[in-house]
Amino acid sequence: MVETIYNRLSSVLVTYGILYALSASDAKADRDLRFGPTYTAGKKDTYKFISKKVGIPADEIRTCNPTIGNKLDGITLRLYDVYVVVKGDYISKIARKYGMSLADFLDYNPSMEDLNNLPIGYKLAIPCREPLKDEKPRRENHKEDDVNGDKPNKKPGIKPGMVKPGRVKVAFPSGLELRIVTNPELVGKGKYFEGSSDSYPLLEVSQRQLFKPVSKHFRLAELLRVEEKDCIGKQDKPHVYEVGGDYYFKYIRLDPRLIVLLEKLRKNYGKSLIIDEGYRPPLYNKCVGGGGPHPKGIAADLGEAGYYFTNKGTPRLTKLGKLANKRFSKGGRGFGSTTTHVDTGKSRGWCYGLNRKQCKRLRK
Ligand SMILES: [Zn+2]
Repeated sequence: MVETIYNRLSSVLVTYGILYALSASDAKADRDLRFGPTYTAGKKDTYKFISKKVGIPADEIRTCNPTIGNKLDGITLRLYDVYVVVKGDYISKIARKYGMSLADFLDYNPSMEDLNNLPIGYKLAIPCREPLKDEKPRRENHKEDDVNGDKPNKKPGIKPGMVKPGRVKVAFPSGLELRIVTNPELVGKGKYFEGSSDSYPLLEVSQRQLFKPVSKHFRLAELLRVEEKDCIGKQDKPHVYEVGGDYYFKYIRLDPRLIVLLEKLRKNYGKSLIIDEGYRPPLYNKCVGGGGPHPKGIAADLGEAGYYFTNKGTPRLTKLGKLANKRFSKGGRGFGSTTTHVDTGKSRGWCYGLNRKQCKRLRK
């Protein structure tokens, strides 16, 4: 999608030279909205065709135009809504408000990739939908890992993602390659990014790489964003980028197989998956009260419930919960009422906020 918008933008540039006439800041603010929020359809246009052209999913365009049927010739369609940034906004807050993953948000607003702050009054493109009113809690108030769950199998279902000696880079499904960090100032014992023997190697992320795709539907930034800003203090500051009001770690441990499985899960699910958090350095992990394997670079917390309660009060797996249970059957699955944890560690499952019996029945 980003590519489409850029292609379109560059053709506009060449044809009209519009951006050259604007001041640098105007050009930036205007760039994402280059299409204007509307598109007038021609004879051959279909939703699918327009979607390809403008880089916005066809069903999102339909949502923007609820009264318009399939005859599009000469019709002016709305493509997206415009959101104007207010005081206190930051990227992930706006994305959450409109139920978008960070990847979706960046697809709609590619200029965020080189924007360090989010000026008040800045115009952003967002899908046509009502903002969510209540901000749901993002993390279960329980320690991760093996609460009301299985003891891990002795035999690991998925072998810890190690890298062959001599390798200097790790590649991800998108082709993105990250350099392995060997600097003892960062990875040595007691250092900020200390890892255990079964941790994935620490990888360097430049600010240019931060928002790059790691696979078709996921961006690197989604896996190293800081959810709990209050946990970022003096000792953390040198190790984070601050972009658009959010913090992102400058280094990551990330098992490429986690990304492969997340893509498969997303495909099964049929819609965007919101990643609340992926990698967490040990100190930060401690601050957020999480145990779990996030500091190893093998885990992701998804921002949707793994189970819900029926009218009779019986817990049941959600669609996402069921799919995660299947896709990550050889890894870790933690089910919560607002979140779903998955990882490529040993085969095991657990629940947040349920007793052992309920959890066992749930995962059958
Ligand atoms: Zn987790």
